[in-house]
Amino acid sequence: MRLKNTFIYLIFLSTILFSLNANAQGYKIKTIVVDAGHGGVKPGAKGAYSWEKDVALKVALKLGNKLQDELPGIKIIQTRKTDVDVDWYRRAEIANDAKADLFISIHCNSMPPGNSHVRGTETFVGAYRRINEMDAGLKENEEIIKDKSYKKQNDPTDPEEAILLSLYKSLYRSKSLALASYIQKNYTEVNKRVNRGVKEQGLLILQRAAMPSVLTEIGFISNKEEEKYINSDEGQEEIVMAIINAVKQYKKEVEN
Ligand SMILES: [Zn+2]
Repeated sequence: MRLKNTFIYLIFLSTILFSLNANAQGYKIKTIVVDAGHGGVKPGAKGAYSWEKDVALKVALKLGNKLQDELPGIKIIQTRKTDVDVDWYRRAEIANDAKADLFISIHCNSMPPGNSHVRGTETFVGAYRRINEMDAGLKENEEIIKDKSYKKQNDPTDPEEAILLSLYKSLYRSKSLALASYIQKNYTEVNKRVNRGVKEQGLLILQRAAMPSVLTEIGFISNKEEEKYINSDEGQEEIVMAIINAVKQYKKEVEN
C-alpha cells in the first residue's frame, strides 16, 4: 500500500513538473473527460418518472458529441457511454491516465419530500480542507461511501494522501473555480436558470482527479418543472450549450 502511494506521489510530482513546463511553453487544452454521474445499479436520485443516472448519461453524451463538433482539435473521453456502474475512483483514474486537462462530471440535484419547490443549478469544485466524516453528508458522496471499495481506496490518515490533496488544491483550485464560475454564469445569464452558485465541497470523485475538475448539478429532479426541463431535448440542448460556452471562455483564459 505504501509503495503504491509513493508511486502515486511520484506520478503527481511528474505531472506537476510537466504542467509547469507546459505552461511555460504555451499551454493548450488537449483532452477533456466527460463523466456521466452514477449508472447501472447506482441510479442516483429519483424524480417522478426519471432517474438521475439516465438524465446524466443523455446530457453527458450530448455534451461530448457537441464538444467534439465545436472543438475538433480536442480529444473527448467519456467515463461511461451506457447504463453501467463505473467505480468512483476509476472515473478519476480514467482522467488521470489520459492526462486530461479538464474533468466535467454531470449530475442532477434532489431534495427530500416536502422540498419539491427547491430548484436551480449549482457547480462544485473540490475542497481539500475537509477530507473527513463531514463529507459523508454530501449527496454525491453517499453512494461512494456505501461502496465496498471506498475504505480500501480512501485513507485520509495517510500522510502521502494529505500531501497529494494539498498539492492538488494549490495547483488546480483556481482553474476549477474559473470553469465552475463560467458554467454558472451561462446557466444564469443565458439560460435564465436559478443560480445556487459555485461551491467548494469535499467531493470524493473530484479529489481524485489530477486536473481542474468540476461537478455540475444541472437541475433538481425532485422539482416537477425542472425534471421536465432536464429530460427535454430543448432543456438538454440549453444545458450542453451553457457548458460548452463555459469551456470556450475557460479555454480562452487559460491558453497562452
Ligand atoms: Zn449525482
